[in-house]
Amino acid sequence: MTSIMASAKTLSSEACVTSERPVLRERGQREVFCGLTGIIWLHRKIQDAFFLVVGSRTCAHLIQSAAGVMIFAEPRFATAILDERDLAGLADANDELDRVVNRLLERRPDIRMLFLVGSCPSEVIKLDLARAAERLSVRHAPGVRILNYSGSGIETTFTQGEDACLAALVPQLPQRDNDRPQLLVAGALADIVEDQFLRIFNELGIENVAFLPPRKSVDLPAIGPGTRVLLAQPFLTDTTARLQERGCEILAAPFPYGVEGTTAWLAKAADLWGVARSRFDDVVAPAAARARKALEAHKFRLAGKRVFFFPDSQLEIPLARFLHQELDMVPVEVGTPYLNRHQMALDLAKLPAATLVSEGQDVERQLDRCRAEKPDLVVCGLGLANPLEAEGFTTKWSIELLFTPVQGFEQAGDLAELFTRPLVRRTRLEV
Ligand code: SF4
Repeated sequence: MTSIMASAKTLSSEACVTSERPVLRERGQREVFCGLTGIIWLHRKIQDAFFLVVGSRTCAHLIQSAAGVMIFAEPRFATAILDERDLAGLADANDELDRVVNRLLERRPDIRMLFLVGSCPSEVIKLDLARAAERLSVRHAPGVRILNYSGSGIETTFTQGEDACLAALVPQLPQRDNDRPQLLVAGALADIVEDQFLRIFNELGIENVAFLPPRKSVDLPAIGPGTRVLLAQPFLTDTTARLQERGCEILAAPFPYGVEGTTAWLAKAADLWGVARSRFDDVVAPAAARARKALEAHKFRLAGKRVFFFPDSQLEIPLARFLHQELDMVPVEVGTPYLNRHQMALDLAKLPAATLVSEGQDVERQLDRCRAEKPDLVVCGLGLANPLEAEGFTTKWSIELLFTPVQGFEQAGDLAELFTRPLVRRTRLEV
């Protein structure tokens, strides 16, 4: 494989109805990044983990160019490159992998958790990374845990890399020895956002709070019955299934974008912990007021503007909710790679009835719909952004929404600014 784009070619599109809203389902060519992309933010989050991609030079090029490599810093990701001999079956890829891992762990005693990350090439030659992880764990335990997940572009969209990584972590979480209520926030958040949420929860009197993933792999939170999970990211379908298998309860809440989303997200936990409404208002009101003020500075540019989402990050539905409910934008079409009806229900319900919600992709048909709608702003992946800019559209790269801290009250203005910036840039170019 020489492309960083995953594509599939079974053409079909059909309309179905979910929660009384028709959804256009498409199965055609897709334009998305692969799950390796998640390494870019996950290696910053879990500070004693290392991500070893078992892949091709293309995979290495993708993560190196996307994440950047600092010359003086020891990177915490790398690629074990499968060359022609491995791919042709002339060399034993398992022996090679063992050699690479042993050398890496000898040289880097700071690594406490090693993820072997599968790719298209490792899947094509059916390299069994689960068995490799087991085999290598025997040698390197207890100092280093070795896990595996797939970041391959054959089936995934790019945020599924984080979902697969966290799903691989769940079986490693210790079992709690009591079932007292505990709050687990699932989904990688920037440290600054995590600190803000932790402060708010503590001010509300919710003290038993843990985060998945943790900042250090040696601090894995214990879970079990009594663990209530608030999702900080809307793409954790496999992770939530694993958490439920461990007896955790997933809380139904909108996602914490903007004032309304963050307030409702916090309120879900506060209600469950029996926090009095007056105390909740006292704690939340100052930050909510600051966020509202920050949004006002962007509203005059965004209100009434029509926005079109191509399916890419799986953040599309909650972001469209935010743009519509809090900034008066008009979502024309909201495409999402996969629609998790249960997790999206509350955000989906806030979209206007006229908004077309689409699941999956048939990129040529979707481009035709986009051209016909002539939206003011298109949110899409990098592969579509440049061609659309060349056609005169104003675009926003959806991947930036993962690289930037956007959840919570203090980030609401920054989140809005991510959408105003391309519009301002276009205006300047036109002057
Ligand atoms: S995993 Fe697949 S899609 Fe991703 S960079 Fe490697 S070859 Fe390309």
